[in-house]
Amino acid sequence: MRAMKVLVVGSGGREHALVWKLAQSPHVTRLWCAPGNAGIATERLARNGELVECVSLGAEDLPNLVTFAKEKRIGLTVVGPDNPLALGLVDLFQANGLRAWGPNRKAAQFEASKAFSQAFMEKHGIPTARSGVFDESGAAKTFASSLGGRCVVKADGLALGKGVLLCANVDEAERAVDEVMVKKAFGSAGSKVVIQELLEGIEISLHALCDGRTAKLFPGSQDHKRALDGNQGLNTGGMGTYSPVPFLSDSKLTKIGESILGPWLSGCAAEGIDFRGILYPGLMLTKSGPKVLEFNARFGDPETQVYLTRLESDLLELLDASTEVKLAPLGLEWSSLASVCVVMASAGYPGSYTKGKAIRGLEEAAQLPRVKVFHAGTARSGDGIVTNGGRVLGVTAWDVDLRSARALAYEAVGRIQFEGAHFRRDIAAQALSDAPTGMI
Ligand code: AMP
Repeated sequence: MRAMKVLVVGSGGREHALVWKLAQSPHVTRLWCAPGNAGIATERLARNGELVECVSLGAEDLPNLVTFAKEKRIGLTVVGPDNPLALGLVDLFQANGLRAWGPNRKAAQFEASKAFSQAFMEKHGIPTARSGVFDESGAAKTFASSLGGRCVVKADGLALGKGVLLCANVDEAERAVDEVMVKKAFGSAGSKVVIQELLEGIEISLHALCDGRTAKLFPGSQDHKRALDGNQGLNTGGMGTYSPVPFLSDSKLTKIGESILGPWLSGCAAEGIDFRGILYPGLMLTKSGPKVLEFNARFGDPETQVYLTRLESDLLELLDASTEVKLAPLGLEWSSLASVCVVMASAGYPGSYTKGKAIRGLEEAAQLPRVKVFHAGTARSGDGIVTNGGRVLGVTAWDVDLRSARALAYEAVGRIQFEGAHFRRDIAAQALSDAPTGMI
C-alpha cells in the first residue's frame, strides 16, 4: 500500500493505543492527533523517527478538522470516540474529498440510538435481552412492572456511558423511568427509553472490524466497568481489561461471533447500512446463551489497549482495507501472549475529581519489559506530566499467560504514583481463580 500521513481524532487511552500501533507502521510518514495527550506527544514513527504531533483541535470540531486534514494532505483520518461519528465526521470528510475511517452517521446509529439497535436486533434475530422501546413513561412503567421491576432502564441517546440504570424491583424501576423520561436526567437522550430484562451472567466484549460486507472477529476481552473491587461502586468508562478470555475457547468464540455477526451483516445489507469500522457488541453470557446488551460503533476503551498490544498485523493496512471494502482476503494476526490493562484513575472518579496532580514513576514503569503505559487524562506541565482527567493511565503488560501479564501490569502500577491515585486490584482476577462454568 502507499505511504501516507495520518490523523487520529481523540484524546484518551484508546487513542494513545491507536497512535502507538499506527506509529509502528512503515506506511505512516507523519502522524497527528487531535487533540491528543501528553503520552501521545512522546511517540515516534518507526519509519523515520519523527515525533507524533498533538494539535489543539477538539474531537467534535468537525469544520476545523476538515480544514486541517486538507491543509496537511492527510491520507486517512482515524476516529476514536463515538461522538464525532454520531455527528457525521466521516460523511463530512467524504463530502470534502477526504478519507476517514469509522462508520458514517447512519451506521453510527448502532451506538447513538439504543432504540435503533434494539429494534434492529429484534427484527434480524440477533440474540438479545427481552425488551421494549418507549417514548411515554406510563407504558414504560407498565412494561417494567411486567418484568417484576428487575430491569435496566436505558436512555436512548448518547449519555457519556451514564444513561443506564439497573433496577431490582418495581419501585426502583418507576423511579428510574421518572429520572430519565420525566426529570430528563440525561437531557434529550432520555426522550425515548429502552427497557431490558435484567440479565445475570458474565459480561464480555466482542470487537469486529468491518468493511460493509465482511466482519473480522477479534479475540475475546473483558472489561471491568465498576469503580471498585468485587464489581462494587459506580459504573465507569472501564477500569481494566484483559485478553484473551480463558473461559472462552476459540470455537465457542467463533460460534458466538457467527450468531451475532451473521444476522447483523445481512440486516445491514437489507437496510442499506454500510458499516465500515469497529462493531463492538457488549455481551452477557447467560445460562440461556449469549445475549447482546448493546452495540458500540468504535473501539472500546480500555479494550483497545489489550487488543493492540496483541495485534501483530499492520493496523494501517487493516483500517485502510476497512475503509476501501478490501477486508475479505486479509487475516488478522494475533500474538498468543495475554495482555492486561489496569486503569489508574483520579480520586473521586467517576464522580468529580481534581486535575493537575504530578505523576511520578513513569520512567521506572517503562523500564519493565513488555509494559506500555498508555496515557488517557494527562497533560504536560513544565518538565513534568500531570493528571488531566478521570481515567489517567492505562498500564498495560503482556506475557506468556494471563497470570504473568497481570503480575507484570501490577508491578508497573506499583512504580507509578500521583496523589489520590485509584485503581482496582482485581483486574483479571476472577478469570484466573474460579473460571465460570455453565454460562457459555
Ligand atoms: P450499556 O451501556 O447498555 O452496555 O450498559 C452499561 C452496563 O450496564 C453494561 O456494561 C452492563 O454491565 C449493564 N447492563 C446493561 N444492560 C444490562 C442488562 N440487560 N442486564 C444486566 N446488566 C446490564
